[in-house]
Amino acid sequence: MVPLPGRFDVAVVGAGICGLAHALAAARLGKRVVVIDRDTQANGASIRNFGFITVTGQQQGACWQRAMRSRDVWIEMAEAAKIPILQRGLLTVARRPEARTVLEQFLETDMGADCSLVEPADLADHGAGLREADIAGALHSPHEVRVESREAIPRLAAYLGERHGVVFLRDTVVHSAAPPRLETSRGLIEAETVVVCPGDDFRTLMPDRIAAYGLTRCKLHMMRLMPEKFDPALPAVMSDLGLIRYLGYAEQQGAAALRKRLDVEQREHVRHGVHLIVVRSEDGSVVVGDSHHYAATPDPFAPTGIDDLILDEYAQVFAGAIPPVVERWTGTYASAPDRLMLVDRPSDALRIVLITSGTGASTSFAIAEEVMAELYG
Ligand SMILES: Cc1cc2nc3c(=O)[nH]c(=O)nc-3n(C[C@H](O)[C@H](O)[C@H](O)COP(=O)(O)OP(=O)(O)OC[C@H]3O[C@@H](n4cnc5c(N)ncnc54)[C@H](O)[C@@H]3O)c2cc1C
Repeated sequence: MVPLPGRFDVAVVGAGICGLAHALAAARLGKRVVVIDRDTQANGASIRNFGFITVTGQQQGACWQRAMRSRDVWIEMAEAAKIPILQRGLLTVARRPEARTVLEQFLETDMGADCSLVEPADLADHGAGLREADIAGALHSPHEVRVESREAIPRLAAYLGERHGVVFLRDTVVHSAAPPRLETSRGLIEAETVVVCPGDDFRTLMPDRIAAYGLTRCKLHMMRLMPEKFDPALPAVMSDLGLIRYLGYAEQQGAAALRKRLDVEQREHVRHGVHLIVVRSEDGSVVVGDSHHYAATPDPFAPTGIDDLILDEYAQVFAGAIPPVVERWTGTYASAPDRLMLVDRPSDALRIVLITSGTGASTSFAIAEEVMAELYG
């Protein structure tokens, strides 16, 4: 193999948010960085998600703290890389008294410090368009930001190249990584340290090490709706079904009673891992999701019945007719039975970093800072 020109301090495999976050953290330490990705443009989970940098709802402890730190870095990056922040904050609407109880219990934790309970009569203060009937209350969180991932990720990569001199080798598969050598489809690359951020590809690099974590993959349905009008004042919106999935809520004592009721009243939604997130785009369309189906190799099919369950929950929370669906897609991410992320350490100079839950947009910047601090002190 012919060595590619130059030797790098840090090579990052994968140009999703996890890889870009590591490139940023390394560049901020003054390192010469190369990012290598098999695709010609970002195409994985990082551009298929909501672009919703979620703080409130993340699991108490490390995940919540990483989300807070990553949110701050997103705000810095938005300004530096000219990435529009399209929404701020989160309104988690409780449709049932049991859901309100979970929100009240959440508010008593440290995580609830800057959040507030919204009475049904005051919901309109946060924007128009929500159903007024059958709402037991809501939680407002000021922490979240929302970006359009399919635009934000390319802009972040361009910024890293322009501002920090990060070299991007796209259309290039990494076949093996053993620092200081990486064998790629374009030749040999040399780097002092290597961080592998392969998303949900468990098989190309160090499959035996990754297999030890018992990972699987999760497939999600997503849609874009085009409402006639959608109040730009509204923050991101979630509802009861999210309270049994997001661990920051689901680990509250009252969540068991909510789950029991949802198991009866929204059995199919729960069975398909459906919950509601609604975020707004610049053109007034809204991104709505999602569902969760787990398999080692998720099938490529997207039955409309699952989308109907998501739209049904939308109709329970938003007033008026369901807007037309103008786009549908699926995405997959890595999933672990027992952890939200993992850092594997095959050698002193090599790390494998996997976000094994739907939290990578919200936590990757902080995780990358921790990994680079460990590699470089
Ligand atoms: C539908 C959906 C909704 C989501 N919603 C949210 C949300 O609201 N909030 C949130 O925080 N998170 C959310 N997530 C999760 C989040 O998107 C992921 O955790 C995150 O994007 C994972 O980033 P990544 O860089 O690890 O993976 P990816 O974006 O998949 O990137 C991995 C990259 O590695 C490359 N690669 C792999 N192996 C090689 C190799 N050997 N050689 C070269 N290149 C390689 C791939 O080509 C790919 O570009 C969602 C995910 C999905 C799918």
